[in-house]
Amino acid sequence: MTKIEQLRLNGQLPSPKGVALAIVEVSRRDDASVDEISRVVQTDPALAGRLLRLANSATYAGRPVAAIRDAIMRLGLAAVRQLAVSFSLVDQNQSGACTAFDYPQFWAHSLMMAVAMQELGKLTRVAAPDELFACGLMARIGCLALSTIYPVEYGGLLKQLTPKDNLAQLERQILQTDHNEFTSAVLTDCGIPKAFVEPVYYHEVPEASGFSEGSRPYQLVHLFYHAKRLADLGLAQPSDRNAIVSELMLLGGKIGLDAEDLGNLVDRIFTSWHEWGKLLQVPSGVLPTFSKMMTAPAPASGEESLSTALRVLVVEDDPSSRTLLEGVLGSILGQKVYSAVNGQEALAVALEVMPQIVVTDWLMPVMDGIEFCRALRATEWGQSMYVIMLTSIDAEEEIIDAFDAGVDDFVTKPLNVRALRARMRAALHYVKLLENWERDRLQLKQFAAELAISNRKLEHFAHTDLLTGLQNRRAGMSTLDQAWSAANRSGQLVTGMMIDIDRFKSVNDSYGHAVGDVVLKEVAAAIRDSARKDDSIFRMGGEEFFVVCHNTDLKSTFHAAERMRFKVKNLRIKVGETEIQTSISIGLACKESDMPDVDALVKAADQALYAAKHGGRDRTCLIVEGKLRCGQSEPA
Ligand code: GH3
Ligand code: MG
Ligand code: MG
Ligand code: MG
Repeated sequence: MTKIEQLRLNGQLPSPKGVALAIVEVSRRDDASVDEISRVVQTDPALAGRLLRLANSATYAGRPVAAIRDAIMRLGLAAVRQLAVSFSLVDQNQSGACTAFDYPQFWAHSLMMAVAMQELGKLTRVAAPDELFACGLMARIGCLALSTIYPVEYGGLLKQLTPKDNLAQLERQILQTDHNEFTSAVLTDCGIPKAFVEPVYYHEVPEASGFSEGSRPYQLVHLFYHAKRLADLGLAQPSDRNAIVSELMLLGGKIGLDAEDLGNLVDRIFTSWHEWGKLLQVPSGVLPTFSKMMTAPAPASGEESLSTALRVLVVEDDPSSRTLLEGVLGSILGQKVYSAVNGQEALAVALEVMPQIVVTDWLMPVMDGIEFCRALRATEWGQSMYVIMLTSIDAEEEIIDAFDAGVDDFVTKPLNVRALRARMRAALHYVKLLENWERDRLQLKQFAAELAISNRKLEHFAHTDLLTGLQNRRAGMSTLDQAWSAANRSGQLVTGMMIDIDRFKSVNDSYGHAVGDVVLKEVAAAIRDSARKDDSIFRMGGEEFFVVCHNTDLKSTFHAAERMRFKVKNLRIKVGETEIQTSISIGLACKESDMPDVDALVKAADQALYAAKHGGRDRTCLIVEGKLRCGQSEPA
């Protein structure tokens, strides 16, 4: 017979008494009714009050309940039984024989686990939140059991326990059993289903459970671990909070919580814990908010102080790693952390917030860390930022590439918080030096103003062809894309004109490239002036232009094209003494039902243009349902 079985037989394990015991017994019967349970609960006003409170907590929508019967209906018999048992255990064990065991502290921690499990249950819906509340409250009851059954030995053990020790391991060494085994025994005796008992047993080391990933026990064991760490945070000394905060960020990321969601969750847990503490007579003070805990400076780290706020930009595609970084950097530095999910987004954020330090992942979609670093270094404002690259790649060659791209330092993945902290210290030192250089605020202001102007210019240049002032090809193609999508939605027509200057090479050859440029500009202006209000014109490249005609048919586009052609033909372009005359050829096509995409339209217009050239130039050809039709060279 095992030690636990022996103790169980002697009735030495903590077990529910009185009303709770009666509830357990009644509810074990298959025919137990809600009315019967209500009658038993009503004999214990404290229990009734607690159940009512739970039934009215935010878990449930709908009207508040005042009657015990309704409360039991809402909570469900299983939850009522488990709650009655756990409350009974709390009431009976507010103190005990083991002088080294801090009973109030134990319950404060367990209660925090209970409310944490309840909140996590609401979030993840792995199990009923109230059942999880009860299981959380009893998840470490084995510690209490051991201290009560072996007050002297366990007291001695607790005295020799150091922060580095693993409690369960030490218990096994000294008592040949551990608190998790006792917890399992007590929970089983209290009628808690096996589905909860097993995850609780492994809650300190979820990896040891061997539950298959994603299964319900797997989710539960991780939730219990999560709840324990939340409770550890609530009960930790302020100086120990930092490390737990970063771990919680990581755990939060795993269940899809960002820093803000996590902060809200923790604050709800703290508030609920404080209220439950009063109800169960368990000490539970008012705790600072999570964001205060997160931004509290790390103790005695000897970091250098800065006169301006430090801004750190985190660039990471993996949500949990990003959450961890935000947390660690926020808590180490107590400064503003911004984040982005890829290099492209990071460039925009960097331009906006001007971080002094950038911590970026290497492998990311859209724009990776190396490309991002290169792009940053290519700007004037991005040169002084201190860039730390996260990488699991340790091949020397690739690291050299990264340094070439302008990376200042490395931290390897998986993230080691201490290593990151050390690297951040170097970064801070650098920022401090830089700050000395950049004292002059006026200069900074001017710099920002210039930046704004150059940004506007950059944006303009990004869309505009410098020579003609028309949209460039990239911008024009995106206009065409938009027209195409709009036409797909509305069924409206889209036609396109491909325009090419005739024998333009000979202009260059006869008068030189500079004169060629003037001709290009004048022709572009003539095309623009003769286009209709709704037409969008862009320079396709070289001496080719494209006109996107919105919601017009081929016939009216043909007339517009002929007007353009006529206008260009009549241009007399004066350059110095010489007067140059030129002409254009135009190919037209419209969006047809069998065209898969815009490229097909461009290609069709190009075919029509080719026909116009082939037919002798200075004319408009069109393609309708795959058939070519060409106009004359005379103006229409
Ligand atoms: P075609 O009637 O068959 O179109 O004859 P083309 O001479 O116009 O055709 P081709 O495509 O052989 O020549 C186009 C010329 O346009 C070649 C290139 O030097 C010139 N070109 C392209 N872009 C510019 C530019 O920005 N400025 C100047 N001056 N010339 C340009
Ligand atoms: Mg990545
Ligand atoms: Mg040409
Ligand atoms: Mg050409």
